[in-house]
Amino acid sequence: MYSISKDKLNSLYSAIAGEFDLFMPIKAAGQTNYGFWSEGAEGDIDTLKTIKSGKDAFFPQVEQLYTVNREIVPADVAASDDAEKAADTPVRTKLKVNPVKLIDHDFVIFGMRPCDVRAIEVMDNVFLSDPVDSYYKSRREHGIVVALACHEPEESCFCTVFGIDPSDPSKAKADVATWLIGDKLYWKAITDKGEALTSKVSSLLEEEDSDSKVEEEKAYIESIAKQLPNAELSLEGWGAGKTDEKFKSEVWDKVYKGCLGCGTCTFVCPTCQCYDIKDYTTKDGIQRYRCWDSCMYSDFTLMAGGQNRQTQLQRFRQRFMHKLVYYPTNNDGMFMCVGCGRCVEKCPQSLNIVKVIKAFAENN
Ligand code: SF4
Ligand code: SF4
Repeated sequence: MYSISKDKLNSLYSAIAGEFDLFMPIKAAGQTNYGFWSEGAEGDIDTLKTIKSGKDAFFPQVEQLYTVNREIVPADVAASDDAEKAADTPVRTKLKVNPVKLIDHDFVIFGMRPCDVRAIEVMDNVFLSDPVDSYYKSRREHGIVVALACHEPEESCFCTVFGIDPSDPSKAKADVATWLIGDKLYWKAITDKGEALTSKVSSLLEEEDSDSKVEEEKAYIESIAKQLPNAELSLEGWGAGKTDEKFKSEVWDKVYKGCLGCGTCTFVCPTCQCYDIKDYTTKDGIQRYRCWDSCMYSDFTLMAGGQNRQTQLQRFRQRFMHKLVYYPTNNDGMFMCVGCGRCVEKCPQSLNIVKVIKAFAENN
């Protein structure tokens, strides 16, 4: 185990950023969100919950996929001596597809909480299954995840319901586990990638026998997590194979009311992975990009004939059925929620997955 004092964290960020792109919680205008760190930026690993999770590191909110250009093909006749004939020959063009270069250099995602690390596993099941998403895969191969224990879980957190341990990031599928305790950050490499990162910054880290401090911190975090209002939330009745029973329930008629279809819940969610693909014309050709989409939007998956989900009730039901029934059915029981609590905090109508689960429990 290593440690570094909190007042040297800027040097640590600087050392990491000297070798890699560093994606981490940054405080700006009073809010903390993930972004790329550069000199002068205020890295903030004290704030527990970033507005969005770090999922952009692997699945950016907007990304270009490829461009299509029209290339002029010289007509055969143009090369001949027959100038008159050449002038009359229409210019031929062909389309050239230029995929964007996949990421080929390592980068670091720093300060990711255990729930958000679990969310990467959720996305892996989607993007790394056949057909593999090459854009996502290249980022996963090159991303080095430094996870951070949640010093004081907050009221909206309920990750333990999904078997996530906020006190021990070494159990998450990260490369380095860290704990911020008092005026020090404690650091433990878990994987080869984590060892490689550790060796790059070793001059700033002090070797320290800090197991007892970390154990004390874990016990402190566990004691808070146990007392959170939703720590005992029951997932009984949800999961694989519950499609018929849950889909047809009348509870949806009650719980969806008030949903504005604003999509905030999907955009802050670390596990939502729906996207749209669009083309737009630029002076240099057509650019194809993809961007996050939301199943809460009325035009989500809209086709020319209008066959998408027509009502907000249907859209609301889809979001929660996906997280609590469809995804577990297709992924060995794994839920598509990690209990980060962002939707609990951000929904302007105070609708969220906890309320849905509780409403079904009360109506059973
Ligand atoms: S549940 Fe809340 S955050 Fe989500 S779309 Fe409806 S109103 Fe917006
Ligand atoms: S559904 Fe809500 S609590 Fe669950 S992972 Fe998404 S934002 Fe977090």
